[in-house]
Formats: sequence, C-alpha cells, structure tokens
Amino acid sequence: VVCARGVRKSFGDLQVLKGIDLDVRRGEVVVVLGPSGSGKSTLLRCINHLEVMDAGWITVDGVQIGYESRGGRLFHARDSVIARQRQRVGMVFQQFNLFGHMTVLENLIEAPVGLHGVPRDEAVRRARRLLAQVGLEGREDSYPRQLSGGQQQRVAIARALAIEPDLLLFDEPTSALDPELVGEVLGTMRELAAAGYTMVVVTHEISFAREAADTVVFMDDGVIVEQGPPEDVLGNPQEERTKAFLQRFL
Ligand code: ATP
Ligand code: MG
Repeated sequence: VVCARGVRKSFGDLQVLKGIDLDVRRGEVVVVLGPSGSGKSTLLRCINHLEVMDAGWITVDGVQIGYESRGGRLFHARDSVIARQRQRVGMVFQQFNLFGHMTVLENLIEAPVGLHGVPRDEAVRRARRLLAQVGLEGREDSYPRQLSGGQQQRVAIARALAIEPDLLLFDEPTSALDPELVGEVLGTMRELAAAGYTMVVVTHEISFAREAADTVVFMDDGVIVEQGPPEDVLGNPQEERTKAFLQRFL
C-alpha cells in the first residue's frame, strides 16, 4: 500500500528525515517507535502530503499524493486533486481534531457527503455502523465536549474510517488521554488491526506494538535504525540505539 524511498525533509538547517525507505503491505500493521524529535510525525505527514518532502518519493496505492502526471511528467497537483488523493488515507491525531460545533454524526458525514458526494442517508447509515464498531452506539447527537477524551478519540477513529480509506495513520493517538482512557482506544485499534486494516501507528505504547504490530520500526535522528517483527525488534534488538530506547520502558 505504501512505498517510500529516499525520503528527506529539512526545516531550515535541521535535517529531520535523512533518507527513509519504508514499505507497508496491505493489511499490515506497522508501529513506529522512537525518541521525541526523531521525525516520526514528519514521516507520517509526508505520507499524505501534509508536509512536502525535499527529496525521495512516497506512493500510496501507486499514487504520489500531491502530484499528478501529465504527458508522462510529474507536476504539483491542484488542491482539488490533492483533496481527492488524500481520501485514500485516514489520519488520527493526538488531539482528536473533531469539529467542536458539530455533533458526532455531523463530524462523521462531513467528508463523505462534502468531498465524496455520498448521498446523505447512505452516509448516515454508514456513520451509525461505524459508531457501533467503535463502541459508541447511540451517541450520534452528542457534541464532542460532552464526551470523554477516549470517546472523542474513538469518534475521530470512526471519522477516519468514514471515508473508507486504504490506509490509516495514527500519530500518538493515546498520548493526550488520561491513563484510564488509553485502554479503550487501544482496544478499538486492536480490533481494526484484527479486521485487516492497513495501519501505520506512531505510539509509545510498547504493549500495543508487541501484540498488534506485524512490523516494528525504530527511528532515531531521522533514520530507520532497525525494523522487523516485534519479537526481533522488541525482544532481541540488534542496534545499541534501539536497546537504549527500549531500556526506558522496562
Ligand atoms: P515527538 O515524539 O515529540 O512527537 P517526532 O518524532 O514526531 O517527535 P517530529 O515532530 O517529526 O518528531 O519533529 C522532528 C523535528 O522537526 C523536531 O526537532 C521538530 O522540532 C522539528 N519540526 C517539526 N515540524 C517542524 C516545522 N513545521 N518547522 C520547524 N521545525 C519542525
Ligand atoms: Mg510526533
């Protein structure tokens, strides 16, 4: 689903990504670990073109989001094209990012109806189904502020699913939550993983990585230091930097 090669990104003099190669297969769950500032969020944001990379390329289902080819050459895509390309990718952020003035239902049908032209009653039916899937049946008329952080994040996950994405990106989805609410969100994410969604998850929840990941990627200082199955990367890390990082979670 995702193929990234030689991805580089700097902010001014600061090189944040120093040549990243990454493959994500359909149905694969990739968990990205790494210290603060290692470039994890920047990498996720490059995948759906929220950041423009300096060099390298990334395809999602064979498409380079942000670019379109005309006459065999690649050009920066128009905003309308980018909006359509991004519909392949659902993203969940640390800070839920729900629309506070809209009900849960309105949050869920906004993109399908507004961007995809899905008929409203069809979108409503799908939204109800998704709410049930994330354990929030019957909450469609609530406003985000009436929900707990964990419930809001599960609405955000349902909203990401509402566009029927081929790929789900999560950027520290539980970091802003009170500890007692983390489990319910991770539980929903485990169900998605088991249901076969293709997911890239940046998180510090090592137990989630151990149980749900097919592949664990350890990033440090803008490079992928080590990657592989959780048994290897978490259970028997080869690189000193990986060992030092994992020490903190023991
Ligand atoms: P964290 O675990 O703290 O979220 P991260 O691995 O996600 O860290 P990034 O957010 O990708 O790290 O940031 C990598 C580096 O790039 C950091 O030093 C950050 O300050 C810098 N950075 C990120 N976005 C910008 C920006 N828009 N402008 C300037 N610097 C940026
Ligand atoms: Mg980050």
